[in-house]
Amino acid sequence: MAHAVTLIPGDGIGPELTEATRRVLESTGVELDWDVQHAGTDVMEEQGGNPLPDHVLESIERNGVALKGPITTPVGGGFRSVNVTLRKTLDLYGQVRPCKTYPGVRSRYENVDLIVVREATEDLYAGIEFEQGSEEALELIDWLARHAGNIRADSGISIKPISIEGTRRIFEFGFDYARKNGRHKVTAVHKANIMKFSDGLWLRVAREVAEDNSDIEFDDRIVDNLCMQLVQRPEEYDVLVLPNLYGDIVSDLCAGLVGGLGLAPGANFGTKAAVFEPTHGSAPKYAGQNKANPMAMMLSGVLMLRHLGEVEAADSLESAIAEVIAEGKSVTYDMKPSRDDPTAVGTSEVADAIVEKLGAPVW
Ligand code: NAD
Repeated sequence: MAHAVTLIPGDGIGPELTEATRRVLESTGVELDWDVQHAGTDVMEEQGGNPLPDHVLESIERNGVALKGPITTPVGGGFRSVNVTLRKTLDLYGQVRPCKTYPGVRSRYENVDLIVVREATEDLYAGIEFEQGSEEALELIDWLARHAGNIRADSGISIKPISIEGTRRIFEFGFDYARKNGRHKVTAVHKANIMKFSDGLWLRVAREVAEDNSDIEFDDRIVDNLCMQLVQRPEEYDVLVLPNLYGDIVSDLCAGLVGGLGLAPGANFGTKAAVFEPTHGSAPKYAGQNKANPMAMMLSGVLMLRHLGEVEAADSLESAIAEVIAEGKSVTYDMKPSRDDPTAVGTSEVADAIVEKLGAPVW
């Protein structure tokens, strides 16, 4: 039976990467019944200013699985991030970003193979903020002066909630993911020495969950120390579990270890659905130029195939991508020794090369 999957092309470079990814996924022979849904800046006008129409969310809930291209968020105004709204509405609490070095990738490191698991509903990204000068901000500052301590009257404030429930479920998810994927160690990342009531709680609950999962090794690291160690000895880490903000930053750091954003896939797991998407954004300056690297989105497609139980197809697609990387011929500009290398190919030519490796006809 075909797998019903919601396909969201996104905007910027999203549509061309999505098309390339759809082609390689179909070339694995797995039957996919795409439910194409549009979201983002390109559909806002026709959807009465809404970049995330209800029918898109309904489709994801109905199918339980989505493959999504990046979507632009205007800086400092406009609408709320579609990505944040999607995560919140569907309660996509577990973001997984595998970072692996494939032979042939230009990177300072070899043998990196780690998984970043990021809690995606709480922390400073929970969206509870008080604008500098607003009545609410002034009221809160006044309340804080009476109960906690003084902060400057002209402050803007973002709240950092970390709950027992949210922490418990992300660590249970992290240990499960580690076990299912043959991993041996989970590291809890925090700044519990400074933020005792938020990160302190995180670490305490992490240790409790670790006790119930003693078949997997467990340790913890303070986030700044972790960053230094990742740059010096990334091969010592396996599965990292981080709160929202550190998870966002550390996953980009890890993407840098393995050759850049063009190679960093991602998945968002929740109680109702799983959404697969690359770590990178919509890179608007490259939109429509057939220039961007589709591999991060294709590797997100590999994660989706594994989630759908199509393990053999996932393995063949990953091997086909790895072969194309190792040959170094049919790769985009970001994987060449210099960014203006004239031998760099375009997005669709990368897809052609991978389809050919899969033994399917290039059309
Ligand atoms: P970005 O990831 O879009 O681009 C940063 C730079 O990385 C690009 O200029 C380009 O040089 C490079 N790059 C990114 N993807 C690439 C690819 N596939 N191939 C080759 N090079 C690539 O980050 P940004 O510029 O900070 O964000 C642009 C927009 O994307 C913003 O509106 C942001 O909010 C949004 N965004 C969306 C998502 C998402 O949809 N999940 C994630 C991150 C950012």
